[in-house]
Amino acid sequence: MRGPMNEASMRPLLSLPPLAAAVFLAWAVRGRSASVFGKSYWRGPRSSPSIALTFDDGPSEGTPALLEILDRHRVPATFFQCGANVERLPALAREVRAAGHEIGNHSHTHPLFCFRSPSFIEDELRRAQDAIATHTGAVPHWFRAPFGVRWFGLGRAQRRVGLTAVMWTAIGYDWNSKVDAVVERMSGRAENGAILCLHDGRELRARPDVSVTVESVRRLVPMLLDRGYRFETVSRLLCPTT
Ligand SMILES: [Zn+2]
Repeated sequence: MRGPMNEASMRPLLSLPPLAAAVFLAWAVRGRSASVFGKSYWRGPRSSPSIALTFDDGPSEGTPALLEILDRHRVPATFFQCGANVERLPALAREVRAAGHEIGNHSHTHPLFCFRSPSFIEDELRRAQDAIATHTGAVPHWFRAPFGVRWFGLGRAQRRVGLTAVMWTAIGYDWNSKVDAVVERMSGRAENGAILCLHDGRELRARPDVSVTVESVRRLVPMLLDRGYRFETVSRLLCPTT
């Protein structure tokens, strides 16, 4: 327990009654604004009309359709890629970077981190980081946890691999929703500094059906541009001076 006990923010847990401790732990693991298991961002500054469009679980055979839409509107995005998917489709991973988008780390094999050891978690981050660097030349700064689940040891693993966590302001549920619902949800939650989370893959599946995601983006991007938003990569949204 040496690693977890170093998380100073976990100390209050010891003095909480069991139900309160369970509620706190559930928030720490899944809450979009929780930084208990390592520093994490879930939105950018509210001072300017900027939005970061982010895609998890790629690259996949569906990624080029998204790149085409983003290119048509000259809109940058951030792709949180899985290392195993990068190894399966290295040319597509490179294409994402060559198109000017940012690449983030979404673990190597998209596991659930609950009850996993700190060394397992660090290995997942490191293998993805290596795969992305090897095949695209990009060295990610940002990490998004698979399923949005954080666990003991993740904060240290992030620091050691050189990553900072990014959750989301709004998530599209595009893996199990209809296009209208995704568009309504994301456009309804778009606001200054929002980080929107969609998926250009489905975990490690080959040839996943991402048509709902693609159609949603085809409608969302022009809609949000019309409302006066500008799209930024996560780095530009969170660190506008870089
Ligand atoms: Zn994912």
